[in-house]
Amino acid sequence: MVSKNTGHRCSFCGRSDKEVQLMITGIDGYICNECVERANEICQEALKTVSQSKLGLDLKTLPKPQEIKDFLDQYVIGQDEAKRYLSVAVYNHYKRLLQKMGDDEVEIEKSNIIMVGATGTGKTLLARTIAKFLSVPFTIVDATVLTEAGYVGEDIESILTRLLQVADYDVKAAERGIVFIDEIDKIARKGDNPSITRDVSGEGVQQGLLKLLEGSIVNVPPQGGRKHPEQRMIAVDTKNILFICGGAFDGIERKIAQRLNTHVVGYHAVENAAKVDKDNMMQYIAPQDLKAFGLIPEIIGRMPILTYLNPLDRTALRNILTEPKNSITKQYIKLFEMDGVKLSFNDDVLEYVVDKAIEFKLGARGLRSIVEAIMMDVMFDLPSSKKKTFTVTLDYAKSQLEKANISRLQNS
Ligand code: ADP
Repeated sequence: MVSKNTGHRCSFCGRSDKEVQLMITGIDGYICNECVERANEICQEALKTVSQSKLGLDLKTLPKPQEIKDFLDQYVIGQDEAKRYLSVAVYNHYKRLLQKMGDDEVEIEKSNIIMVGATGTGKTLLARTIAKFLSVPFTIVDATVLTEAGYVGEDIESILTRLLQVADYDVKAAERGIVFIDEIDKIARKGDNPSITRDVSGEGVQQGLLKLLEGSIVNVPPQGGRKHPEQRMIAVDTKNILFICGGAFDGIERKIAQRLNTHVVGYHAVENAAKVDKDNMMQYIAPQDLKAFGLIPEIIGRMPILTYLNPLDRTALRNILTEPKNSITKQYIKLFEMDGVKLSFNDDVLEYVVDKAIEFKLGARGLRSIVEAIMMDVMFDLPSSKKKTFTVTLDYAKSQLEKANISRLQNS
């Protein structure tokens, strides 16, 4: 019922019905139109937070580690170990987010991950692929641009700016996101001894990063870049943000070998040394190797899951060309299909491409540039011709690659 000029007062703000436009009468009290509006706003806000934190998932529908790995298998060749670690980490991340809504007493702590593997073995690809699968905000940032606050480069907090941007500045969503920090090895301490000049892009950054990794409230500049005093900051709690770090750690094999050598002393020394697979030292990586490489122990402690990627052998390279859902050959076939042309590659062409990638030491990254060099002319000519099929033969591939400046590929 609506009352007017009866002297009733709003039970919420205390104003009389003379001071407001409308006064609604309840069983045992009154509410004015302004308090109704205010209450409505509060409801909207609160319900939004609840629905956002729901994730659209519950424990039953949560993708299991095996399902996550099956998905990764469609895009990434090999790297089983890293895939398993990632799948479990993401699964646990979801579980932790779901647990937050209950009132369980055992708090699950997050387990940030560090992936070590030579360049071009699929670290970024793994991160990108997992992002496709996730229903939480995800971003990839490059550690090389970071410097300690006050120096040329980007502040460490800019990592979170990116996450906020992909979450459309929805702080609650960003606070449960996943960040992939690439090239983490580039912020290793530059020397063993503390130097006279500050190590602003190495240890300084690691100290700054520590704050993010361990979970704290961080003031983030919404537009990124450098913080300045007048800028409005957004407070982001990093407690539930999962960090996945990746790095090539060039030369870390030597540190691993050193450690293995110094440790295998005693009765079983010779036997153990013989078991070491010298072609893939990365599989023996341990936290102390990261320390020897120049990561500070506190950072290593904040990334309890350490996994590695294998170097890609011939078979892996060959599979990368054809197997993944969006493999290089499938992409070209699709491109030609759009012009109404049926494209095929002879098997020996694929072997040849792999040979060249190995010969030029280009790895998986080179496969695309080599195929691109082979296909350039035909991609130029075919759309204007009447041909409806095209088969890439070994002779054609060889002549095209020789024509393309091979040395240029080598430097790319
Ligand atoms: P990294 O981050 O380890 O330096 P990337 O993930 O950027 O390497 O790999 C570069 C490219 O090589 C990828 O875009 C992909 O085309 C190919 N590639 C590398 N490793 C794999 C893999 N294991 N499976 C499929 N493709 C791969």
